[in-house]
Amino acid sequence: MHFAWLKNFRSLFLADACPLCDRPAEDILCKACHRQLQRCQVAKPAASWQGESPLFIWGHYGGVLKRAIAVMKYENKPQIAELLGEELGRVWLNSASILPKAIVVPLPMNPEKRQKRGFDQAELIARSFCRQTGFSLKSQGLQRIKDTKPLFDLNPQERELMMQDAFALGKDFQKRRPQLPILLVDDICTTGNTLKAGAKVLVEQGIQVAGIAAIATPNRKLPTNH
Ligand SMILES: [Zn+2]
Repeated sequence: MHFAWLKNFRSLFLADACPLCDRPAEDILCKACHRQLQRCQVAKPAASWQGESPLFIWGHYGGVLKRAIAVMKYENKPQIAELLGEELGRVWLNSASILPKAIVVPLPMNPEKRQKRGFDQAELIARSFCRQTGFSLKSQGLQRIKDTKPLFDLNPQERELMMQDAFALGKDFQKRRPQLPILLVDDICTTGNTLKAGAKVLVEQGIQVAGIAAIATPNRKLPTNH
């Protein structure tokens, strides 16, 4: 109790502490952590923007990026989602000439989990991405309708089955269909099944899906910047 009070008191006078190392930070992260985060960036974020499910990825799920995502989720640091969305938007704009204009829909997490966490990281990432790119955000484009078990307990077939009915069309598109294709946004893209399940719901309703943008993938095939 005492220490929590002290920390709050301190933050009135000093810059907020970096959520990754606790040193004073002028921005969301301190300079050292931000530099380390940049090293997780993939060299060509638009390299997988092709084929049936075009994918735009900011970084490799490892090192400081993995830690930043964990701290964001489990230590209640929504400002990290904001930073990651900004980074994603910045690299999107760098490749904008080969990418489409789109309406952004974050992949919603299940409502109980959201309530417990107090925020939905995909929504915050998408919001900040839209601030950078000028795209419009439809955070209710999809809704989550089924509670899903932790996916790591399941084999790939079970995983796919589990995700099939996880989403439904959200209220943003129930009355009016979007005028541009949809870009789905999430934090981590592992197998892509969750994102594909979201895309399927939209496509079945006649809504065009441009592709998927995610902060991180554990897929090592993408080359890094450094
Ligand atoms: Zn730091």
